[in-house]
Amino acid sequence: MSISEQAAERRQDYDGASPFPGAAEHVPAGRAQVGLTAAIVVLPFVALGVAIFLAWGQGVALTDLLLAAGFYVVTGLGVTVGFHRLLTHAAFTARPWLRVALAVAGSMGFQGNVIDWVAVHRRHHAFTDRPGDPHSPYRYGTGLRGQLRGLAHAHLGWLFADDPTPAVRYAPDLLADAAMTRVARAFPVLCALSLALPFLAGWAITGTLYGGLTAFLWAGLLRVALLQHVTWSVNSLCHVLGSRPFRTRRHDRSTNLWPLALLSFGESWHNGHHSEPSCARHGLDRGQIDPSAAVIGLFERLGWASNVHWPDHERIERRRAGAPPHARAPAGD
Ligand SMILES: [Zn+2]
Ligand SMILES: [Zn+2]
Repeated sequence: MSISEQAAERRQDYDGASPFPGAAEHVPAGRAQVGLTAAIVVLPFVALGVAIFLAWGQGVALTDLLLAAGFYVVTGLGVTVGFHRLLTHAAFTARPWLRVALAVAGSMGFQGNVIDWVAVHRRHHAFTDRPGDPHSPYRYGTGLRGQLRGLAHAHLGWLFADDPTPAVRYAPDLLADAAMTRVARAFPVLCALSLALPFLAGWAITGTLYGGLTAFLWAGLLRVALLQHVTWSVNSLCHVLGSRPFRTRRHDRSTNLWPLALLSFGESWHNGHHSEPSCARHGLDRGQIDPSAAVIGLFERLGWASNVHWPDHERIERRRAGAPPHARAPAGD
């Protein structure tokens, strides 16, 4: 029996509560990857210390906060509207220039190159909360210790493991797309730009290098860190805490977590998303604020987006957790 067949067999044994088979066999990633990831995780905390020290007694400059908010919105929407809803799930069709612009903006979020990001996320949907999921908080079982360890793994730990997701298998469409492979190759340059632009903007606006430095700290490093932790929280918290109004596939424990809705641009309506993955709106219920969906709606009105998959309300009602079995629609993938 081949290794993949063995893995498939082990997956079928999964009961929804035990640690995943082989969960304890943690293979650390190569030194270069571990070093780089550790730097990306630790550096913002050093930056936070420096930023607080500099701001002590005089507060944070409004310029820095506005720049941070601007870069947060652009790179955040690049990830949620671009990487996630457009490129991973094809929730709409974008004009070619918009597709590239969104992929570039998302790349500036320091979350990996666009093709790898999409591949990992598609794998997460294919194996949600069961063996094969690259970042499930249920990896170590549902006991208290296992759950805490799993949360740490789903939030951050998975980035340090040697668990490659083959793009050939999960993102062949993007590999065949010349524009996307070019954006993916430019990832290191785009990361550098993501830090250099706030510095240059701060320098230009204040006319001082000091102004450039504080803008680099707030709108560069700290903005990157906040967006990363919000994205990672969707992987960790949004599979553990919150409500599950809609049915999802077996073992899938995705949740809706309202406190993160605004900061995550609507991505924390994660149960809605796992129930209807290719829907352009994740906040499927009334009052569920979803800024990414609003932006897609704006793109549609401007004629930049077409073929938008808006929620089909009848179908969604059939998906509701309490809906009678005869009215139920099959769960999506
Ligand atoms: Zn998920
Ligand atoms: Zn998704």
